[in-house]
Amino acid sequence: MRIFDPHIHMTSRTTDDYRAMYDAGVRALVEPAFWLGQPRTHPASFADYFDALLGWEPYRAAQFGIQHHCTIGLNPKEANDPRCTPVLDLLPRYLAKDSVVAVGEIGYDTMTDAEEHAFAAQLALAVEFGLPALVHTPHRDKAGGTARSLAVVEESGIDPGFVVLDHLNEVTVTEVIGTGCWMGFSIYPDTKMTPQRMVGILKKYGTEHMLVNSAADWGHSDPLLTRITAEAMLDAGFDEDDVDRVMWRNPLMFYGQSGRLDLDGYNDVQAAGLYAGNSIARGGS
Ligand SMILES: [Zn+2]
Repeated sequence: MRIFDPHIHMTSRTTDDYRAMYDAGVRALVEPAFWLGQPRTHPASFADYFDALLGWEPYRAAQFGIQHHCTIGLNPKEANDPRCTPVLDLLPRYLAKDSVVAVGEIGYDTMTDAEEHAFAAQLALAVEFGLPALVHTPHRDKAGGTARSLAVVEESGIDPGFVVLDHLNEVTVTEVIGTGCWMGFSIYPDTKMTPQRMVGILKKYGTEHMLVNSAADWGHSDPLLTRITAEAMLDAGFDEDDVDRVMWRNPLMFYGQSGRLDLDGYNDVQAAGLYAGNSIARGGS
């Protein structure tokens, strides 16, 4: 089984995690830029972090046989701090780099005007650079936050197929299905989405435009939850091709739109014409 974790914060994980992920089948991942717990107070702190996502972390991942790409952006939480917002001016320099496969994480945290300004400005950058966008939906007032996020996405003029709304659940997925946007789900050990609930969503809505991630960071999280969800899919009657689509080909398709994914296996996907002749009924498995 091959796994591409489309959203995982390896900066906060250990080499034991890299080894265990490799053993579980993880061969590629995308690490989105986000907040680091301790608030940053200078744009230069972001520059050093972005450089680590482009240099040190891919080097570390490669030592364990895992291919690392990243997304770059000013996260919604720190978009509220005027000491951090000059980061927006640094972004074009980073978005031009080869291993940056999307703009993100962007979106809403507490739905302030400052967050909305940074969100819209970064969607405009995604359009300018021809990159996908990774949109974090807020953990509080999820339904309202998802609806407002979709409105900002629509207003930006970005192709919805270039956008993933992440951290969705059974309620918010109903807002995103049918919009053309991709749907991301973060699986956690004991809060939010579980592997079983994820399988229920895939049963109900199908596997198209679905991304499953472990999101693992410094909080209580588990970088093997992609694999555990894949096993739960098989136990529930999905076949290996369904699992490969969700866990490998879908992330390749989404981030491949950047034109910058440099991965073993990507060329077979291109050659096979991933969804050509591949009918996935909504509501079926
Ligand atoms: Zn994240």
